Amino acid sequence: MDETELPCPFCKASNTRPIIDADGAWSARCEECGARGPIAADARAALSHWERVTGERALLRMVIDESPDLILLKDGDGRFMLCNAALAHLYGTTPEQLVGKDDAALPGNTGRIGLGLESVRAVTYGDSVQIVEESALHAETGELRHFHSIRKPVLGLADEPCMLVIAHDITALKRAHRAIEERERSYAHAMEAAGEGIWNWDIEAGTLTHNRRWCELLGHAPDTFVHPIAAFSDSLHPDDRDEVLTRLDEALAGTGSYEHEHRLRRPDGSMVWVLDRGRVVERAPDGRPLHMAGTITDISARKHNEFVLSLATDALANANAKLERKVAERTADLARANEELARLARRDALTGLPNRLAVEERLHEETLRRPARRSSASAVLMIDIDFFKPINDTHGHATGDEVLAQVARLLAATVRESDFVGRYGGEEFLVLLPETTLEGARTVAEKLRDIVERTPHPAAGRMTISIGLAMAEKINGELAAVMAQADAALYEAKRTGRNRVVVASQSGTA
Ligand code: GH3
Ligand code: MG
Ligand code: MG
Repeated sequence: MDETELPCPFCKASNTRPIIDADGAWSARCEECGARGPIAADARAALSHWERVTGERALLRMVIDESPDLILLKDGDGRFMLCNAALAHLYGTTPEQLVGKDDAALPGNTGRIGLGLESVRAVTYGDSVQIVEESALHAETGELRHFHSIRKPVLGLADEPCMLVIAHDITALKRAHRAIEERERSYAHAMEAAGEGIWNWDIEAGTLTHNRRWCELLGHAPDTFVHPIAAFSDSLHPDDRDEVLTRLDEALAGTGSYEHEHRLRRPDGSMVWVLDRGRVVERAPDGRPLHMAGTITDISARKHNEFVLSLATDALANANAKLERKVAERTADLARANEELARLARRDALTGLPNRLAVEERLHEETLRRPARRSSASAVLMIDIDFFKPINDTHGHATGDEVLAQVARLLAATVRESDFVGRYGGEEFLVLLPETTLEGARTVAEKLRDIVERTPHPAAGRMTISIGLAMAEKINGELAAVMAQADAALYEAKRTGRNRVVVASQSGTA
């Protein structure tokens, strides 16, 4: 059979010819590249089959040439059996020029895809797929490109073992990765360099990243840099938790700023007071907060001082209150003592009657009150025990005292409730009879004189008193004058025989 004049699908040469295999089957072989394919027994059918196969191969050729991935096929000796346009372009040549050659024929011998006879053979005669990263220099730009390659053992057209490589360009991906790593490294350095505890909250992921200082403050091993947000919530003091979470929610929903003082629990159970400050640092296009970052500062010492100060302040307040109570008690005691002193100062110890000081105060008061009650009159009785000195002399001073006390009792018991009886001197008494007429006063005076006379002392026997009576009705506050009149009247009573009542005349004598 003649040559088909159809181009070989591999090398495009046109001297292909049908041949008969040893077992009698038809096939076609390219005289140029040696590629072989099946062919129908009938020559015309064989030709149309050849055309179809050739068409399919051309289509396939187009597909692999359009692929941005590098595709190559090498035989066990490292020679290119096939490569696509992308690979040829990288090497600055054409697929046709590469086929049949090995890497050594290419300008330069480094930075190739699927390079090295050793590795080619390892794949070609092995039974596993290799996935490797490799790089190659771009022939035009001189730039190093990186690839993610799949190397796979396959069988060629004549069942000969060969290696298929499909390499995907990952240069851009690698660069992006490196940029991210770079950024993360400098971020990590910044986190480390900071003296404060730093936290970074990835809100969507629900994780918190911390720097070494944060771990130190919170008593965590530095290898536990990332925590779920729930761990933060758990570490909050139960009394602070609701407040802190509310503040964080408010910050996320509002201005994005957050500041709070609270207690955090360390893994060993101890508590640390922190000033926690944060800010939303990244938002989604719709405004949703994505990241919040912040710092914590240990304020335990300050809180401790505040606590100690509050204790001291409380103690001081307690001491003050105690002191004030004591002062109040002492003041009340003093007031009572003063009252008692005042009472004692105005009372005669022997008779229990108001003493001279009290008598004078009472008279003064009476004088001041008089203008309001001008229509009525008051009487003053000046009383002196007759021959008292002989009682002392005869029966002793103690009996004299008893007599004094008895006379006092008799006087006090005889006058009205509203009248006033006081001990004015040694054995002298003064009786004030408010709102009393002269006649009324004279009657009282007589009654007093009579009762004393009729009540003998058990030891001293009978005794009498003399009384000087002065009316204060027209004197209007001139107390001294009234007293002088009463005194004069008393003197007159003594002079005229004692045991009697003498009424003072206006001129001063009875
Ligand atoms: P006359 O009738 O003139 O009043 O005579 P008399 O003895 O009462 O004279 P005088 O008024 O001079 O005497 C008063 C005496 O009262 C003198 C004094 O020793 C005595 N006396 C004064 N105070 C007390 C006292 O508290 N107790 C006693 N036992 N005697 C007193
Ligand atoms: Mg006297
Ligand atoms: Mg006397």
